[in-house]
Amino acid sequence: MQELQNMVEHKEGFKNILVLNCGSSSLKYEVYKMPHRQSLGKGLIERIGEKVGKLVQTTDKGEIRLERPIPDHGVAMEIMAKAVVDPEKGILYSLSMIDGIGHRVVHGGEKYSSSVQIDADVIRALEENIELAPLHNPPNLTGIRESQRLFPGLRQVGVFDTAFHQTMPPAAYLYGIPREFYDKYRIRRYGFHGTSHRFVSARAMELLKRNPENTNVITCHLGNGASITAIEAGKSIDTSMGFTPLEGLMMGTRSGDIDPAIIPFLEERGYSSKEVLNILNKKSGLLGMSGISNDLRDIEKAAEEGNQRAVEALDVYAQKVRKYIAAYCADLVKVDAIIFTGGIGQNGFKMRERICHRLENIGIVMDYEENRKNQSKEGAVSMKYSPITILIIPTNEELQIAMDVFEILFKPTDAMKRRSTDVYF
Ligand code: ADP
Repeated sequence: MQELQNMVEHKEGFKNILVLNCGSSSLKYEVYKMPHRQSLGKGLIERIGEKVGKLVQTTDKGEIRLERPIPDHGVAMEIMAKAVVDPEKGILYSLSMIDGIGHRVVHGGEKYSSSVQIDADVIRALEENIELAPLHNPPNLTGIRESQRLFPGLRQVGVFDTAFHQTMPPAAYLYGIPREFYDKYRIRRYGFHGTSHRFVSARAMELLKRNPENTNVITCHLGNGASITAIEAGKSIDTSMGFTPLEGLMMGTRSGDIDPAIIPFLEERGYSSKEVLNILNKKSGLLGMSGISNDLRDIEKAAEEGNQRAVEALDVYAQKVRKYIAAYCADLVKVDAIIFTGGIGQNGFKMRERICHRLENIGIVMDYEENRKNQSKEGAVSMKYSPITILIIPTNEELQIAMDVFEILFKPTDAMKRRSTDVYF
């Protein structure tokens, strides 16, 4: 019945957008009906290239689970395509009902400041950016090529993690190193998580009933990876991640900011540069400091049981977030709201409290009772008299990608836009 309804609506002009996020050994996908902003179903394929791969797909008709060897992304895409049109628990009746594809792409370099329809030029630019994102851009490119093979002729859009931050001024993106490194090697700050910062800041405008033109916000995306962005009049003017996602906040396993002199110091003591980079990316942060886990919940539990290393890890984590919030408050001059999102930002009410309890002096006054009561839901957790509102907003990067694809490929009429606003936000 639902399929029939989908097919009728499809004919009426509503579009089904397939959103793909291709990682080095994983493929995440979700189908959105636009402009309704309605998720029809989603799936995750993991352990691509390992002995046994795994698929889990969920729709309101139930779950599909599958374990089998998935040697490469080409096979993963074929498995996905089959699951999407599964006669019992599929997402769509037929693959021909997909109207457009959106790809999450990590690095758009300096070339892309917004999402774009993918053509040969875009693919060439992404290839040129491989040296800037050697772990991420190659699987993103594979996803694009495999979709071209599986869905020939279907239009595709690239949505870049870096694009939102292309509005940063040189004062924010240049490092204090010899200029030739920027000119020769493109070494500068790019920033990441742009799709999430953009999504939650736009949602904040709706919640606060304000125009972006006269509103400044600071968005804190605190997940396993974490970054903070200063947004002035809807534009990113600074963000905590830099040339790579290693800079900035301390994260689940990443160190964030450290004195770069530590790197040769360790190399002189026998660590190779590859080992040092691996330690800073994968064995530092909450995990490295606590020696327990990269999961905030495990560390909070250990801290409550009196583990001192866990307490220190929590304190360092909160201190770094506070430091960036305060710096961005100074940079923005006026701030209207601080937004928390990501697994920790949205759910970690104790960490939010740890971060905010020293920010009253700059006008960020948390309502601690509300913060504890509202552990994960969208809404404000600041005192009514707080000069700066503290908001919790669940992020949805996949929906933002679907919105971009719809906007770029189908240029909705104003009437349709109004309808989408009515239905969702
Ligand atoms: P990713 O960046 O991989 O998408 P998430 O945004 O899902 O990660 O965030 C993962 C983090 O969120 C983990 O550190 C986890 O401990 C934390 N988290 C999830 N739920 C809670 C919770 N209820 N309380 C505290 N932390 C939480």
